[in-house]
Amino acid sequence: MSLMNPLELLQKATEEGVAVAAFNVHNLETIQAVVEGAAEERAPVMIQTTPGTLQHAGIPYIAACVREAAKLYDIPIALHVDHCPSYRTIVQCIQHGYTSVMIDGSKLSYEENVKLVRKAAETAHCAGVAVEGELGRIGGTEDLLTVDEREATFTVPSEAKAFVEATGIDSLAVAIGTAHGEYHGEPKLDFERLTAIRQKVDVPLVLHGASGVPDDSVREAIRRGICKINIATELKIPMAEAIRECFRNNPKENDPRHYMGAAKEAVKEVVRKKIRLCGSSGFASRW
Ligand SMILES: [Zn+2]
Repeated sequence: MSLMNPLELLQKATEEGVAVAAFNVHNLETIQAVVEGAAEERAPVMIQTTPGTLQHAGIPYIAACVREAAKLYDIPIALHVDHCPSYRTIVQCIQHGYTSVMIDGSKLSYEENVKLVRKAAETAHCAGVAVEGELGRIGGTEDLLTVDEREATFTVPSEAKAFVEATGIDSLAVAIGTAHGEYHGEPKLDFERLTAIRQKVDVPLVLHGASGVPDDSVREAIRRGICKINIATELKIPMAEAIRECFRNNPKENDPRHYMGAAKEAVKEVVRKKIRLCGSSGFASRW
C-alpha cells in the first residue's frame, strides 16, 4: 500500500481501545524488521525517525526505503518524523513523502511554542500530512534532545485543551511520567492525569518513552485513551545485543549480512511483542 496519513487510524484505534505501535528506525534492517513484524501481526504501524537519524541516513534514503517497503504489504503504514524542532526539516520530510510529523517546540516559551506548532500544522495540513504536538516535557534523552529530570514537566489537562485548540494539531503527546531512554527504577505513570487529559481533549493521545514501562502500565494507559505507543530504546538494546553475540560467537565475523541479519531478527521479535501488547494484532484486517 501507499504510505498513509495515520489520523483516521488513530481515531479508530481510540474507538476500539487499542494502540498503534510506532517504532523508531535507523537503517534498512530496522525498517525491514518493523514492516515484516507488523505484516506478520496484520497490524498497522508507524515508522519514525528522529532528526538525528535523518542526519545519519538522509531523508531521501529513509523515505525511499519506507515507501518501497510499504508497497510490499497490504497493511496501513505511516512515516513520521519524531521530535523535530525545525520547521525547515518538517517541510523537507513532507516534500519527500512523510505522512506524519511531530513538531517539538518544547524548548520555547508557551507563546513561541504555539506559534511554531500552528505554523507547522498549517503547512502539514495543506499537504494532507498529520501533525503531532507535545505539551509538558518528557524527561530523558531522545537522540539529540536531552531534558533534565528537574526540567521535565507533566502535561496540565486544561493547558492541553488550550494548546490543541490554539495550534490545530491532530494528536497530542502527553507527559505523564514516562521518560526517553533507559529507566533507573520502575516508572510510575500518573493515570489520573491521563484520564483528566482524555476528558478535556478530543484528539488522539500519544505515549512517548514507553520502552521499559511495565506491560500492565502500558495496557492501563491504552485503556485510559492512549492510541499511539512510541518504542525506540527497546529496539536498540536487543539489536546491539544480537550483534555483540554474533561477534562473541565468531570474533572474526565480517559479513554484515550475518550480524545485521541477526540484529534484524532480534528487532522483529520485539516489534511483534509490542504490537500484541498494543492490542493491534489483526487490526489491519478490520481497517
Ligand atoms: Zn518522544
